Amino acid sequence: MKITIIGGGIAGLTTALALNKLGFQFEVYERAKQLNEVGAGIWMQPNALKVLDWLGLGTLVRESGTLLDQVDITNSQLVPFKKTGQQVVQDEKGNKIVAIHRSTLQMILFEALPKDKVKLGYEFNSIDYSNNQLKIYIGDKETVTDLLIGADGINSKVRDSIFSNTSKRFSGQTCWRGISEIGLPKEFQNSGIESWGRKIRFGFSQISENQVYWFAVVKAKQNGTDNIDSIKSELRQLYSSFHPLVLKIIDQTKAEKIIRNDISDLKRLDKWHKDKVVLVGDAAHATTPNMGQGAGQGIEDAYYLANILAGNNQIEQTLDLFESARREKVDYVVNNSWRLGQLAHSDFGQFIMKSIMKLTPEKVMKQQMKKLYLIHDTF
Ligand SMILES: Cc1cc2nc3c(=O)[nH]c(=O)nc-3n(C[C@H](O)[C@H](O)[C@H](O)COP(=O)(O)OP(=O)(O)OC[C@H]3O[C@@H](n4cnc5c(N)ncnc54)[C@H](O)[C@@H]3O)c2cc1C
Repeated sequence: MKITIIGGGIAGLTTALALNKLGFQFEVYERAKQLNEVGAGIWMQPNALKVLDWLGLGTLVRESGTLLDQVDITNSQLVPFKKTGQQVVQDEKGNKIVAIHRSTLQMILFEALPKDKVKLGYEFNSIDYSNNQLKIYIGDKETVTDLLIGADGINSKVRDSIFSNTSKRFSGQTCWRGISEIGLPKEFQNSGIESWGRKIRFGFSQISENQVYWFAVVKAKQNGTDNIDSIKSELRQLYSSFHPLVLKIIDQTKAEKIIRNDISDLKRLDKWHKDKVVLVGDAAHATTPNMGQGAGQGIEDAYYLANILAGNNQIEQTLDLFESARREKVDYVVNNSWRLGQLAHSDFGQFIMKSIMKLTPEKVMKQQMKKLYLIHDTF
């Protein structure tokens, strides 16, 4: 079977690695000419790390980032609303969250693949499916494939080629991300922090000895732009009532490295596959980032799709099985993440969230995390 993957982001590369491990023939086409140092940091949770361990890359990922003992939601002065024990964000085997530079993670995945399997500088254009044959057009190339995997992100062209009327859902929030060139005081070195002020949030964690990944989320209209000369002072102004460490993190960031994205997810698709085409990662189910699970869910897709393919030779049936294996968790993540984001930016919502946090026993929190971190090993 010949498999073609469109997109060399986290979901596409992990899918390629999973197929490679199980002995499939595949090729990845990525439109970027090179994998640049784009993006900021990312948190890899134990469910994603279990898949990376299965691929033999978990140790390298852990060594290339920072292990987080805990994740705290705090007030603007960095005082947690509820102090939780370390075990809440760990899985049953003590796997912790890893905070890592996104491009470091992407390069680890890329370099673990045979070089000739990833074609850079190739843009997918369209498909032609007739007489049970799937033809795909990539750049000026035309090729026939047995299975096309669309891992081309939230604005997926592969998705547009099989489904009409899919749409994004704007959350009403925008997010700046950056890498600050400092180390954190000892008490924060192994923590993920999300700090809440009035209708605004600021999160951070150390990703290496001298690098801190941060994100700042506010309510905003869509498609806003920044002025590189004033962005730092504007952020300083927005977060002026926050703990001095937050302002120091902003100060120590190069303005040209600050990225801004409107926060949107993908309106739930009825199906993730059609004929011999299937979507994975953000192309299928982009989520808002409030649960730090978007890439993690793409990584899980890779693991389930490859393993289910290995046990079946009827493609349509395989894709049905894949979708039913993944839907429940993906829906849980997308819906909860959306809700969390909406609550975090209103006074009443923050009050509700703080009450829930205070009232929910640690045992219940741990059960919720267990469900999120669960990965099956039979298919
Ligand atoms: C602010 C923010 C914070 C986040 N934090 C976290 C976190 O802490 N943890 C976490 O797990 N997730 C997080 N996420 C989510 C995560 O970033 C995404 O879910 C993940 O990167 C999606 O990976 P992907 O491979 O599906 O898509 P993408 O990363 O979008 O990759 C798609 C790839 O396809 C390529 N491509 C697109 N179109 C074409 C085409 N026509 N032809 C060829 N190639 C094409 C693109 O160039 C790109 O390389 C966050 C997201 C945001 C916005």
